[in-house]
Amino acid sequence: MSKNILILPGDGIGPEIMAEAVKVLELLKAEGEALNWSFGLLGGAAVDAEGHPYPQSTQTAARAADAILMGAVGGPKYDDLPRELRPERGILGIRKDLALFANLRPALAYEALAAASSFKPEIIAGLDILILRELTGDIYFGQPRGRRTNADGEDEGFDTMHYARSEIERIGHVAFQAAQKRSKRLCSVDKENVLDTSRLWREVMIGLSSQYPDVELTHMYVDNAAMQLVKRPKQFDVMVTGNIFGDILSDEASMLGGSIGMLPSASLDVNNKGLYEPIHGSAPDIMGQNKANPLATVLSVAMMFKYSFDRPDVSGRIEAAVKAVLQAGHRTGDIAMPGEQVIGTREMGAAFLAAMTGG
Ligand code: NAD
Repeated sequence: MSKNILILPGDGIGPEIMAEAVKVLELLKAEGEALNWSFGLLGGAAVDAEGHPYPQSTQTAARAADAILMGAVGGPKYDDLPRELRPERGILGIRKDLALFANLRPALAYEALAAASSFKPEIIAGLDILILRELTGDIYFGQPRGRRTNADGEDEGFDTMHYARSEIERIGHVAFQAAQKRSKRLCSVDKENVLDTSRLWREVMIGLSSQYPDVELTHMYVDNAAMQLVKRPKQFDVMVTGNIFGDILSDEASMLGGSIGMLPSASLDVNNKGLYEPIHGSAPDIMGQNKANPLATVLSVAMMFKYSFDRPDVSGRIEAAVKAVLQAGHRTGDIAMPGEQVIGTREMGAAFLAAMTGG
């Protein structure tokens, strides 16, 4: 059955990087893949056209799609809008609407780019970690929360860390299954020595592990995980953790490889329907200048084939072509070392397509 993809280019460099990703879809379709796609509005572009960052037309199309490919949203033009109309509300809106609770963030260090990282090459060369962050629970959403004046008349702020067993189980299943698709090692990160929420988290992960006897489950406290990620990052394969710990660790890990223009991400629902997007923003400083690196968006297409379409062959082919392009020395400005020749968005897209077709 044909796969139906909704494409949301968004703002800033979004349309430029998406144009290159669409060429990948066109190539795959021309080769016989059953793919269809349509375009929709999200973020500032949607505010301009329809007065809302996640308009009804996009909601309808997103609910009907098998997967969604997004560029990036936001820009200075929208900074003074009221909070509910800000472009980022469009992303939060679509995540909530589609119940996308599992955030998958690979952290990769390509051999060819090892010199561009601030880490020693031997620490990060060949690094390939997948961090799974629970996205819809934890202290970011727990109740009660708020501000109040205590009995001594002092101002207080308070939040509630909260996870229900079912919320931990569903992210746990995604994590074990992701580990099965990789090297079958899963590290669950918590703060079990201090937090009751983490005690439940660990108990649930251990309980689930009997359903995945082929996956080796280990546990690590979050403070140690933050340290180990910079000390010996290659010890990790798949990591799973809650919303707040995952927020911090996935950003930390993304910097190991050195470039924001190279990293994709996915947010999945219980049926593996997903929203795929590069981790970077709309880069208004380089928009319209043919400078943006399209590879994070191209790698988001690879993740879509791996996780929503269950086609590791296609995702592997895309990932191999990205490696080949880097190995051949093609560099956009964000990944170039001083003295290296810099090419533009369209030229990088063309080099990638040539690598896909063996050129
Ligand atoms: P950013 O990621 O857009 O840019 C940070 C720096 O990285 C800039 O110098 C930019 O030129 C560079 N960069 C980013 N992507 C690149 C690429 N593909 N190729 C080459 N260089 C790239 O972050 P920011 O500047 O903090 O935010 C800009 C706007 O993006 C803001 O409006 C912010 O709210 C929004 N934003 C959106 C998302 C999203 O859509 N998911 C994420 C983060 C920020």
